[in-house]
Amino acid sequence: MNRAKMLSQLEQTAQWDLVIIGGGATGLGAAVDAASRGLKTLLIERADFAKGTSSRSTKLVHGGVRYLAQGNIKLVKEALRERGYLLKNAPHLCTSQPFVIPVYTWFDKLFYGVGLMAYDLLAGKLSLGATKFLSAQKTIDLVPSIKTKNLKGSILYFDGQFDDSRLAIDLAYTAATHGATILNYVSLQGFEKANKKIIGIQCKDELTGKTYDIQAKSFINATGVFADHVMQLDETDRAPIVRPSQGIHLVVNKSFFTGHHAMMVPKTADGRVFFAVPWHGSVVLGTTDTAIEQISAEPKALDVEIDFILEHFNLYNSLAITRKDVQSVFVGLRPLVKASGVSSTALISRDHTIIVSPSGLVTITGGKWTTYRKMAEDAVNNVVFLLHPKSRGKKVKSEGIKVKRGGKEVKSEELRVKRGEEVKSEKRKVKNGGSITSNLMIGDFIKRRAMIEEIIAEDANNAALLHEDYPYTIADIIFAIRHELAETVEDLLARRTRLLFLNARLAHDLAPQMAALLALHQQKDKNWEFQQITMFQQLSKQYMVD
Ligand SMILES: Cc1cc2nc3c(=O)[nH]c(=O)nc-3n(C[C@H](O)[C@H](O)[C@H](O)COP(=O)(O)OP(=O)(O)OC[C@H]3O[C@@H](n4cnc5c(N)ncnc54)[C@H](O)[C@@H]3O)c2cc1C
Repeated sequence: MNRAKMLSQLEQTAQWDLVIIGGGATGLGAAVDAASRGLKTLLIERADFAKGTSSRSTKLVHGGVRYLAQGNIKLVKEALRERGYLLKNAPHLCTSQPFVIPVYTWFDKLFYGVGLMAYDLLAGKLSLGATKFLSAQKTIDLVPSIKTKNLKGSILYFDGQFDDSRLAIDLAYTAATHGATILNYVSLQGFEKANKKIIGIQCKDELTGKTYDIQAKSFINATGVFADHVMQLDETDRAPIVRPSQGIHLVVNKSFFTGHHAMMVPKTADGRVFFAVPWHGSVVLGTTDTAIEQISAEPKALDVEIDFILEHFNLYNSLAITRKDVQSVFVGLRPLVKASGVSSTALISRDHTIIVSPSGLVTITGGKWTTYRKMAEDAVNNVVFLLHPKSRGKKVKSEGIKVKRGGKEVKSEELRVKRGEEVKSEKRKVKNGGSITSNLMIGDFIKRRAMIEEIIAEDANNAALLHEDYPYTIADIIFAIRHELAETVEDLLARRTRLLFLNARLAHDLAPQMAALLALHQQKDKNWEFQQITMFQQLSKQYMVD
């Protein structure tokens, strides 16, 4: 992907079939779907792809055991189906993850065991592995740090796990390969209307300040918790529909929770679900569900939320953690849709909602990362119906679209692909025992690998790791700058690599090196470099816990 090329497409296109506002899971999914149907598609994201909620999830591709307990069978079935598609179409980023539910009463063992078997049955052919009852000893073998007092055993079940912002970047690339124009750092400023219908938008390149007037036939609002703001640009008196709920995660060193299994606590003292999930060599702990009034691009964790996570992890884990053990805290806002008569955000459905405004604006919000493809398909179906009413009901096969990973054609390697030679995985071990395994689709693997090799051939130092505990190399950073639309230090450390989320202090310290690489490859001056370092280091403090 190349920004200059995308901007020239923006300038040269007289009219688009579809403009998508918002570059999170929903908007990027819609761009893949629409472009693959042949619609001339533009996506604008005012910050970076997945800057919003889509980089701040618990990293689970799941049906949602909790929604099963709430009796929402339809949502669970749909999400389990989508889980299956995602693991098939993006195997380099989504994998099967075994979970253990520790149980301390015989009743819980039976109750959750039967529940999880039902979950498994609902997955049908797409099940990731059979649910099992485990003894206390087997549970301790799998999760050595589990609290053993009164432990009656556990339930073992399987769900999916992924890297959310990396999936967003690869969806952007996939959409681009289908012909979409995808731009980060371009914000919606306002709508242009004729006869009360939207016919265009004004947007602004946030990096240069340049503004553009864009004409299009249809518009999707996929701005997550900001959906009301965009709807109100269309209709000033529009009543808000989003009820934002904040969820935080703490990331700690893997030594506090060893083994490969994740832990799920289905019901904490206040009725929530709690997860401890191994991720990129660390452990993600979460989450909370706190109704909030003010939405922000960088929401802040409340002290009470941090205490809640520490307390609940320590309740089930014998290796206790304190605030000083937290490597990073990250916070996301769920774009839940208002429901009447519901007192707690935890009870609001995670189903998605589509609203078609009289102006023709199609707003889609709610839902989950796991169901992004279905959400996108529903939103684009609405657009297609508005554009060509007769095509309603036309079958679309986006469930078969592979999520690609950036790279260019490498002829000799392509021949190997055709000959059927197999490249199973790209696995880079790092010191702390973690690894990034990428079971890439063979063609994408070879393309990316070859390009990384080219970058290393330019300078052998580019093979160096940024830090011995994490698998990211300087070559990965240069690749992100050249081919993945990374424009800032934050893009590199928060979403192309995940270092800000894994270890905020380390990310803070790496900012000068990242700024220097960006300045070198994008011909920026010292002043710009200094500003980038200052801005990022300021931000990184919000991801540290004191
Ligand atoms: C704590 C937490 C944990 C979660 N865990 C999971 C999980 O484990 N599994 C799962 O499946 N789901 C999970 N979810 C849900 C999932 O993350 C969200 O449903 C999903 O990321 C929402 O994506 P989105 O594209 O709708 O919104 P967003 O990701 O917020 O994207 C909206 C984008 O619109 C952009 N934007 C806003 N205004 C403008 C404008 N004027 N112009 C241009 N762009 C604009 C924003 O910058 C933003 O990037 C979790 C959510 C939270 C909060």
